[in-house]
Amino acid sequence: MRFDIITVLPGLLESPFAHSILQRAQKKGLVEIYVHNLRDYATNKHKSVDDYPYGGGSGMVMQIEPFAACIEKLQRERNYDEVIFMSPDGERLNQTIANGLALHENLIILCGHYKGIDQRIRDLYVTKEISIGDYVLSGGELPAAVLVDAIARLIPGVLSDETSALSDSFQGELLDAPVYTRPAEWRGHKVPDILLSGNQSLIDNWRYEQSLARTRERRPDLLDE
Ligand code: SAH
Repeated sequence: MRFDIITVLPGLLESPFAHSILQRAQKKGLVEIYVHNLRDYATNKHKSVDDYPYGGGSGMVMQIEPFAACIEKLQRERNYDEVIFMSPDGERLNQTIANGLALHENLIILCGHYKGIDQRIRDLYVTKEISIGDYVLSGGELPAAVLVDAIARLIPGVLSDETSALSDSFQGELLDAPVYTRPAEWRGHKVPDILLSGNQSLIDNWRYEQSLARTRERRPDLLDE
């Protein structure tokens, strides 16, 4: 699966993909992530990509020309399933959306900045708008990194069996059960006996009960659904 992320701050996206699971996924050739510097597509001599808002008001607005040039160049090279704009007023990201996007091959992701992007970019190029929650960040880079991580870990082969995504919270209707590792006792606090019992069906039952209890307590809305 291929991600093309368009941003004015490519440096913000260097580290998130250079470690651990996402780094391995790229080395294995399961995921390709390309970060495009919007400034390379600026048409004016100052390489600026934003301007004052028509109608006045605070904050700069990102212009259409650089986005159009970059998106159109990419679209000439291959077909994209979606052009996604990260935006606080988009559809709120959840596991179902991530699962759906993980079935695609090529995604373009646009990162906004300042006051936002010219509405015509959204009208003419964007096919999906996604928010990572009801709060406002200063740019779309961290949201884009969140989205790519959420999608990439679902691609077959990215996670090893031991960390299978299927048992995670939100894949079913239940939150994940608590987890423990060595030591079996720390300052008098013991790991539940059942996890040391070696009886897999008892352990599975216990985990299910714990998941159910945790979901009832923390997210009863998931059970209602
Ligand atoms: N004026 C805009 C916010 C601009 S914040 C508004 O009120 O809706 C600048 C950029 O950061 C946005 O264009 C978007 O790309 C990104 N961003 C901020 N918060 C976000 C969120 N919760 N989810 C996704 N992207 C977000």
